[in-house]
Amino acid sequence: MQIPFIDLKSQYEAYKEEINKEVLDVLNSTQFIMGPQVSKLEENLAKYTGAKYAYACSSGTDALLIALMAIDIQPDDEIITTPFTFIATAETIALLKAKPVFVDIDETTYNIDPKLIEAKITSKTKAIMPVSLYGQVADMDAINAIAKKHNLVVIEDACQSFGAEYKGKKSCNLSTIGCTSFFPSKPLGCYGDGGAVFCNDDEIAAKMKSILNHGQGKRYEHKYIGINGRLDAIQAAILNVKMNHFDAEVKKRVEVGERYTKLLAGADVITPKIMEDRNSMYAQYSIRVKNRESVMQKLNDVGVPTAVHYPIPLHLQEALSYLGYKKGDFPISEQVGTEIMSLPMSPFLTTEQQDFVVNALKA
Ligand SMILES: *Cc1c(COP(=O)(O)O)cnc(C)c1O
Repeated sequence: MQIPFIDLKSQYEAYKEEINKEVLDVLNSTQFIMGPQVSKLEENLAKYTGAKYAYACSSGTDALLIALMAIDIQPDDEIITTPFTFIATAETIALLKAKPVFVDIDETTYNIDPKLIEAKITSKTKAIMPVSLYGQVADMDAINAIAKKHNLVVIEDACQSFGAEYKGKKSCNLSTIGCTSFFPSKPLGCYGDGGAVFCNDDEIAAKMKSILNHGQGKRYEHKYIGINGRLDAIQAAILNVKMNHFDAEVKKRVEVGERYTKLLAGADVITPKIMEDRNSMYAQYSIRVKNRESVMQKLNDVGVPTAVHYPIPLHLQEALSYLGYKKGDFPISEQVGTEIMSLPMSPFLTTEQQDFVVNALKA
């Protein structure tokens, strides 16, 4: 049996008729950029998350960049974030010549440890950027409380957690700004690159909407320096179809994730721990094992693909070496980085496939 790591094929088969029709409608309309499909998506996204404003944009990375530009991040400003994440989190900070200041993660959730944040706040700190890794929201109440005390902005990197809940509220609508990605493998994915920003603040929202379209207000009148950060209509049309099925997919994701945890109880692995006041979208179902490389090789040999999210924490990445961090600075991120591996995960993973993965892993 060959198991797909993320089963995008079954998903497309399931929604094929609707998606093909909507995509053809866009082609026939020749309205390829912005337009009614994008507006409809933005309404859908705002309604789903409860955020007052949602704006679709070109990717999760651009969503983070737009958020940072909208709060006017300047060179040498400091943004506190986690080193245990995808490069985009710190990359966007670095692109603006601001400084990513890392704080180690909590060993249970793999998200930024709020207890370690305050010690890193300086007069240059402008924002905290927690990541809701693998689909489980970071400890936003604790983070928001610290931000409030020090007058900082909180930007949730929710690129893996669209759909997740924290104390009854949706990810993306838990802080000053929420940013998500619609990369195909994310919990809500399109068929190319896409993303969105979320906000309840009138002023910041208006600025983000403008920045993602070259800082434009009225046509050819530019109030801000912006970017070409628009989402195209074909991606919006696909996302609008997928939104109709998203609640069912969320339910399936949680079921598949919880079933893995149940089946792996007692095995010599560390399974994800989800806090009681939240859930996880299991953007990745990631476990910790000793001798990861040989486990991954053996699984691969029997048709079970795996991946590592992420093998090198950001403070040890060459591109960020100028920050001056060294090995040992963030021991939990480094330790988890040597043990973590992700199993095949999607709402279309059958129980038969899942049993196969679990049995192969146990063997
Ligand atoms: C995927 C991801 C991003 C970037 O999203 P893109 O749409 O690929 O640009 C940023 N942060 C995290 C945590 C991600 O997982």
